[in-house]
Amino acid sequence: MINLILFGKPGSGKGTQAEFIKKKYDLIHISTGDVFRYNISKQTDLGLLAKSYMEKGDLVPDNVTIQMLEAEVNKTPNAKGFIFDGFPRTTLQAEMLDEFLNSKNLSISMIIALEVDENILIDRLINRGKASGRADDQDRSKIQNRFEEYNKKTSTLINYYKSQNKFFEIEGIGEIDEISQRLFNVIDLIIRSHQMTDKNVVIDIGLASDLLSKCIKVYNYKNLDDFELFSGIITTTEFM
Ligand code: AMP
Repeated sequence: MINLILFGKPGSGKGTQAEFIKKKYDLIHISTGDVFRYNISKQTDLGLLAKSYMEKGDLVPDNVTIQMLEAEVNKTPNAKGFIFDGFPRTTLQAEMLDEFLNSKNLSISMIIALEVDENILIDRLINRGKASGRADDQDRSKIQNRFEEYNKKTSTLINYYKSQNKFFEIEGIGEIDEISQRLFNVIDLIIRSHQMTDKNVVIDIGLASDLLSKCIKVYNYKNLDDFELFSGIITTTEFM
């Protein structure tokens, strides 16, 4: 089972890329932003509550968001895995997600961040807002507030997942299918690394072989037995 978190600032392409990943790996895509927007359109209690926060570009309170996420996961008990898009966004959400998955004997397999400069994101969001009518994408001060929320509350998750050796990042700029391919490379590599029982065979596998030999030369790694090695390769863009 693959449980993948797609990470990145608003507009970094998480939703777009989640659709490709979902098809290729047969996963369930849960976007908390989309669930909130659906509830707003249906004028449910949850929607009315979320609306006041979303309109300002603030995060919806943790307790509401966590409960909603758990309910979404519980809707598909036979899923092959999940793509979490826009969740978690705070340390408490990440801790609660770990606890929740753990109670089902599941865990997060990886978190992949799409790296895009804020100036590019502002243009992307404004254009997206024109096409979709999304209010929080059309107003620069709301966009700025969303970036501030990310920098204050969400970016700390990078260290949370780095400490579990689950954090990877890729460049989120370029053609959409180029970016998908970068994501697939990382996902495939991690799936393979999870499948390996004898860690010394790592050098024999396709893409990893190439990346690892470079890594061994550059970083003078002698020992092929740690998952951190993958993390080191993937987070270093020169190897992508
Ligand atoms: P998004 O579509 O992911 O950009 O989310 C749009 C808005 O929904 C955010 O600006 C928040 O107000 C709210 N939201 C989405 N996901 C979360 C979350 N995990 N925690 C709190 N608020 C969220």
